[in-house]
Amino acid sequence: MKRRKLLMIPGPIEFEPKVLAALGAPTTSHVAPNFIESFGNCIEMMRKVWLTSTGQPFIVSGTGTFAMDMAAANLIEPHDNVLVISTGYFGDRFAEISKRYGANVTILASEVGNVVALEDIEKALSAKKYKLITITHVDTSTGVLVNPKSIAELAKKYNVLSILDGVCSVAGEEIQQEEWGIDVVLTASQKAIGVPPGLALLVVSQKAMEIFKNRKTSVGNYYADFNNWLPIMKAYENRQPSYFGTPPVNLIAALEVSLQQIVEEGMEKRFLRHQKIAVAFREAMIALGLKLLPVQKNLSANTLTAVYFPENIAGSAFLEHISKIDVILAGGLLPSHKTLYFRIGHMGSVNNNDIIAVIAAIESALFANEFPFEMGIGLKTALKILNN
Ligand code: PMP
Repeated sequence: MKRRKLLMIPGPIEFEPKVLAALGAPTTSHVAPNFIESFGNCIEMMRKVWLTSTGQPFIVSGTGTFAMDMAAANLIEPHDNVLVISTGYFGDRFAEISKRYGANVTILASEVGNVVALEDIEKALSAKKYKLITITHVDTSTGVLVNPKSIAELAKKYNVLSILDGVCSVAGEEIQQEEWGIDVVLTASQKAIGVPPGLALLVVSQKAMEIFKNRKTSVGNYYADFNNWLPIMKAYENRQPSYFGTPPVNLIAALEVSLQQIVEEGMEKRFLRHQKIAVAFREAMIALGLKLLPVQKNLSANTLTAVYFPENIAGSAFLEHISKIDVILAGGLLPSHKTLYFRIGHMGSVNNNDIIAVIAAIESALFANEFPFEMGIGLKTALKILNN
């Protein structure tokens, strides 16, 4: 019997066996030729995954929060005006981080489950000169998907730098960094990139690098300073040894394998796979009579789904039942709604089989809690879409 449960939370996700094997390979020196080659390959492949030919990748030990911190530390100077578009918990976090670096922060927050209207963003941008705008592509707390392309267009129109928190979207949701003109797209390894937690990954436009180079003040965070990391990224890309802080050798070996798999699948195909699985899953939830957090279907992420518990069913008992049948889902995260909903991650190497198991487990929990529904209707709905 397999001694493990199916991990279907919005990160960390289930990882590919080859990625885990790379993680467990003997650790080499960070200046060994094979490691230098792996690091250089990762940098080159990141451009392919982020869909940019000119962006500057950074691969640094840290979590997604550190990737946000790194972007803010390097691009914000005291008294800069920063506009934060918040669709939930992680948008609010970007506001907190920006304040730490002395920014004057304006937050445009959506209603729970909704997005901020483009007109409101334009109104804010035209009312005051901002240095940068932060966007959360998929706020993992709500499962709401924002359209970064149209916000980035506005940012360009008003000559404002754009930072996209893609922690829950890069390599799952469509992002064309260069074509859409997004200045920073950042993520962490444990989500759709498909590598265990521990890597902060950013790609920064040349325009943002220029603005960074022309800073008037020094970066107030030693570890995050691009001045320390840029020479390292350049050295590895040129297949030269280098050192600033010891790189997480095994994680980078795993990253190389995962990026190879992503590039091999092809970005367009990968985005479509995520979409199809997400649509099947969402429709299954709706067929079961459950309500989604996003207020409209077209605002629902393709990397995770947030679903309200049915009224009169205790969330903790519901998730416990699901865990007993070997599927792990996540509870709520948004403080105001924490106990009211649950979340299912479906990103990275997710396949049809995984969501079929999740839907079956949810049906089982609904049945155990005497929720009125037609047994099998969720599975039937999803299978119809998946078989198409
Ligand atoms: N932004 C988003 C959208 C996220 O989903 C997360 C993690 N769930 C983070 C930032 C923070 O990442 P980490 O937990 O790796 O610090």
